[in-house]
Amino acid sequence: MLDEFKNSQKIIYQMMQNAAKNQRFSHAYLIDANHYPLKSEIAIAIAKFILCPNNYTNSKNCKECTQCKRIDDGNFTELKIIKPDGAWIKKEQLEELQRQFSTKAIETKYKIYIIHEAEKMNSSAANSILKFLEEPEPGIIAILITDNMYQLLDTIISRCQIISLSNSKNYSFLEMSPQTSLEKISLFFAKTKEKYYEFINDNEKINQINYVIKFLQEIENNQELAILKENKLWTSVFNEKNKIEFGLDIMMITYKDILNKKFGLPLDFMIDYQSVVEQLSNQNSVLQLCKKIEIILEMKRRLKVNINNNLLIDQLILLFKEV
Ligand SMILES: [Zn+2]
Repeated sequence: MLDEFKNSQKIIYQMMQNAAKNQRFSHAYLIDANHYPLKSEIAIAIAKFILCPNNYTNSKNCKECTQCKRIDDGNFTELKIIKPDGAWIKKEQLEELQRQFSTKAIETKYKIYIIHEAEKMNSSAANSILKFLEEPEPGIIAILITDNMYQLLDTIISRCQIISLSNSKNYSFLEMSPQTSLEKISLFFAKTKEKYYEFINDNEKINQINYVIKFLQEIENNQELAILKENKLWTSVFNEKNKIEFGLDIMMITYKDILNKKFGLPLDFMIDYQSVVEQLSNQNSVLQLCKKIEIILEMKRRLKVNINNNLLIDQLILLFKEV
């Protein structure tokens, strides 16, 4: 299945193969898309794989059944696609979905709904979908897609099978795929070849990354002293707005990896810092990790409205302490 993604998205390909073989699909998939440009196509390919009587393995039309054609035409009733209505996905959209899906599938064994930009569910929409996920009706399968997984409620995340897409398109300009943490981080921040090599040879950036890791160890392990000691150090390393933002971004991807570790997924960036990641993953619950990620996001917002750097890092340390 998913033939066209067989090489670019090996994990998802294999996962769906196994699910089909055992006839055991998860009742909810969360596609952590990492800005992968073909994320919608993947969702459609999964839907077609499950809904097409020929187990069609492609996001294009299978030409042999009316289901595939009607999916392409957008009038297959057992597949519903939800996108933000304006800035948000609203509760009404999900209520409408639940109404439509309250009857058993007639044409196929399964009914599937796809939610694009799932992080844009406002809180009442999120609560509404949560109920739907908590008491899964047999035969209903959810596919949620997001580029910002950690903006979703952790209660939603924990009810889904997570599929992390590898955004390999990004490194088409490199001779080989990135191996070290520095290479992976460089690639994440630099989207062109020139910027990539500039980043990877920038000693200041390397120091900043190492410092963030040290900083996190300090505040996680030594909170009382950290606030006195680390504030001074932090403000000397990150002394401009764009540098502070970079520091917070590194913190963010570190926690994202700690969460990956917690879920038994491979690390996206911090492979050179395995022992730290493992230690912090043991020390924190999923809920705590999600809260810390929220705090970092909040600090990024405060940075945008020009909060003083000293104050920002004090607040971060204090809020971490309360988690
Ligand atoms: Zn078909």
